[in-house]
Amino acid sequence: MTGHQNLDADARFGEFPGLDATRWKLVGTHKNPWGRVPATGGGQSLDGRAREYMDRLVATQSQPDPQSRRHHYVPRTYLKRWSADGKRVWSLDTTSGRLRELSVNDVCVEENFYRVVGLDGEAHNRVEAMFGVVDAELQRIQALFCGLTDPGALQFDDLIGLGVTIAVQRLRTSQQRRLLLQHDAWLVAQNSDEFVSIDDPKRPYRVAGMHTELLYRSMWDAADLMTTRSIEVWDDPGCRFWTCDAPVLVPFHKNRRPDLISAPYILWPISPRRVVALTNEPSEEKAVIREPTGKERGMVREAVEQGRERWIFSSTDQADRLPKSRAHRRRAQLRLRCSHWAPDGTYVDPPGCCVEQVEGLSAGPDIALCNQGLHQDAPSMWDHA
Ligand SMILES: [Zn+2]
Repeated sequence: MTGHQNLDADARFGEFPGLDATRWKLVGTHKNPWGRVPATGGGQSLDGRAREYMDRLVATQSQPDPQSRRHHYVPRTYLKRWSADGKRVWSLDTTSGRLRELSVNDVCVEENFYRVVGLDGEAHNRVEAMFGVVDAELQRIQALFCGLTDPGALQFDDLIGLGVTIAVQRLRTSQQRRLLLQHDAWLVAQNSDEFVSIDDPKRPYRVAGMHTELLYRSMWDAADLMTTRSIEVWDDPGCRFWTCDAPVLVPFHKNRRPDLISAPYILWPISPRRVVALTNEPSEEKAVIREPTGKERGMVREAVEQGRERWIFSSTDQADRLPKSRAHRRRAQLRLRCSHWAPDGTYVDPPGCCVEQVEGLSAGPDIALCNQGLHQDAPSMWDHA
C-alpha cells in the first residue's frame, strides 16, 4: 500500500485505485504457453510428478528420526555449482570482510535448525528428512535449468517444481527466521497480555517449530505466485553471477522489498553462468533463455549484496571481485509504517491506523509510527537486527 497520503480523508472503498473493477483496462491478451492454469490451488490441485513430490514429503513424517543435527538451509548441492573442486566455495563474510574458501559442509548450516517438538511432546528431526526431499527436487530443477537449451521441452511438472523450489528456498533461510523473531518481538510488545513470545529459552525448539509450520502452510500459495510469472533464464558467458545465504532474491526498491505479487523480478542464481529470473512481463514462451544486459547483471549483483544475510559466495574467477572492503551494515529488516488503508483495501478512519509491515533494507528494524499512543515501543526487536 502506497500513496495513501495522496487520498483525501473521505475517500471510500470504491475509490481505492486497484480495487475498483471499472478502473481496470485490458491492455492485451497473451497465450498461456502451458495450456493449463499454472497453479497448484494452494497444493490442492496436483497431479503427475508434483503429486508424487507431495506424497514423498508426507511420507517422511513416518520415517525414522534422522541422526543429523547439522541442518543446512541452503543445500550443499546448490552451492557446489560455484565450487571448483566440488567441495569448497569462495565465501565472503560480510560482517568481517574476510574472504576465504570454505567447505560447503560448513556454510549455511545451523545446529538443530529444523529440530522441532512433535505432537507427542518429543523433539525430533523429521523436518530434516522432509528437507531431504525438498533438496532432491531443488537439485533436479537446478540441473534442469543449468542445462536447459530447449525451453519448449519443459513439462508442466517442471514449472510446478520450479515454483515450489523457489518458494521454499526463499522461506527456509536464517534470514526469514530472524525476521520472524523480529516480528514476534513486535507482537509481544503490542499485546504483552495475550502474546507469549515464541523465543523462549525453556522451549528451545519452539522457534524452529513455528518457522517450519509457517513454511509448510505457505509454500503452495507462495509457489502459485511464482508459477504465474514468466520465466527467463539469464545466461552469462562470462560466468559472473554470485549467490548468497538467502539465494532467492527479491530486489529492494528504494530500500523496500516489494511483495511477491508486485515485485518486477524474483531472481534465483543457479550457477555462475545462469540466473532464473521470474518476471511480471507476460510471455508466450515457457521460458526465454538470453544473455543478460549489463544492467541486469548489475541488478543481480546488487540483489545479492543487499539480500544476503551474512555470506556471499562466488566462483574462483570472481572471488577477487567480491566487495570485501565495503561495510555491509544494512540488511533485510522489518519495516513498519502507519497507514490509513487496511490490507483488504478498506479505509481506516483517523485517528485509527493500520500498521503496514514489509521488509526493508536498513541497519536495524525500521520503524516510523504515529505517536497517538496506539503503538508500544518494541526494543527487543533490536535483539534480532
Ligand atoms: Zn499509527
